[in-house]
Amino acid sequence: MNHKIIQVASYHYPNAVPAVPQRLEPPDGLLTDARGRPLRDLRISVTDRCNFRCTYCMPKAVFGKDFVFRPHASLLSFEEITRLASLFVAHGVEKLRLTGGEPLLRKDIERLIAQLSALRTPDGRELDLTLTTNGSLLAKKARSLRDAGLKRLTISLDALDDAVFRQMNDVDYPVASVLHGLEVAQQAGFDAIKLNMVVRRGVNEREILPMARHFKGTPFIVRFIEYMDVGSSNGWNLAEVLPSAEVLRVIDAEMPLERIDANYAGETAERWRYRDGGGEIGVIASVTHAFCSDCSRVRLSTDGKLYTCLFATQGHDLRALLRAGRSDIEIASVLAQLWRMRDDRYSELRASLANTPAKKIEMSYIGG
Ligand code: SAM
Ligand code: SF4
Ligand code: SF4
Repeated sequence: MNHKIIQVASYHYPNAVPAVPQRLEPPDGLLTDARGRPLRDLRISVTDRCNFRCTYCMPKAVFGKDFVFRPHASLLSFEEITRLASLFVAHGVEKLRLTGGEPLLRKDIERLIAQLSALRTPDGRELDLTLTTNGSLLAKKARSLRDAGLKRLTISLDALDDAVFRQMNDVDYPVASVLHGLEVAQQAGFDAIKLNMVVRRGVNEREILPMARHFKGTPFIVRFIEYMDVGSSNGWNLAEVLPSAEVLRVIDAEMPLERIDANYAGETAERWRYRDGGGEIGVIASVTHAFCSDCSRVRLSTDGKLYTCLFATQGHDLRALLRAGRSDIEIASVLAQLWRMRDDRYSELRASLANTPAKKIEMSYIGG
């Protein structure tokens, strides 16, 4: 494997404190960016720490014992997160995803969930609030998360074979514990549980069929994700990307599939269902089939920087505005200004950007 690991002892990304525009404007829920894309989906990274060291996300060679994570004081507090989330919602955001790092490592995450689940869209609807987790703490926490108001969950599961799973998480974590967490979550009564499998050619591709077979006929939807070139530390290499078309071909040969419509515009996963009624799967083809034209996602890092693309190289420091005592309308006006300027479409341009951008943001910091 051609793994060129770039050493970083901690994150130092360029950030700018956005200027507050002179003309302040109340949000009207109709914001669009420079490419006409609305703002609908906010992903919030609540911690940059994780108890796994998935080789494609936080390789040990970089995120080792000496790695310096964000100090607690630099993290947004739950009140700061909720305040920002409510301003995003006023601008049209309808979906919130808590992520990280491992979000269940953030102390009292249930309190944040309770605060966020009380938010409503301007016309009074509940938000679609969800969380992505590696599942290791679910057996302990599924019930309290559900009680706090979380309705949906995404659990990352890269293999059913224990040896392959341990190789992917690189901390020798057994797959049986995640499967137990999944079972407890199901009993806790979540409305929907999705499973994310990152497929890496030559590492876990043999797990595609066992995963599909195991979850066929269950309420769990497996989404097969192409290995992406996020961050600068995982030594990404195009040869390790197994195109989603191949995943579909392998599954369809044994369990015939047919395409179904997206649930909403801008959905990242392409949906397919088993022709025999055995449920559905999804593929997320972010490398071979870019979906930037519908991308309505924005990301808030652990320490309050706003990123308008997963592959951004610069963040906008919203925490500085919060802690400088800026008013809601001032911050909302900044958000409007930043979104209107947004022109990102990294995945569409990937090939032509071959050796740039210089230093991308790590996924554990920005949120997956
Ligand atoms: N720790 C949680 C987890 O693993 O579910 C949440 C954070 S993780 C960064 C969010 C999602 O990003 C996971 O499903 C993970 O598999 C995915 N991910 C991380 N690095 C990736 C990469 N290089 N390519 C594709 N997906 C990746
Ligand atoms: Fe941790 Fe999730 Fe990244 Fe794996 S994918 S290292 S579980 S943050
Ligand atoms: Fe959205 Fe950026 Fe991903 Fe394109 S590359 S889909 S703009 S996050």
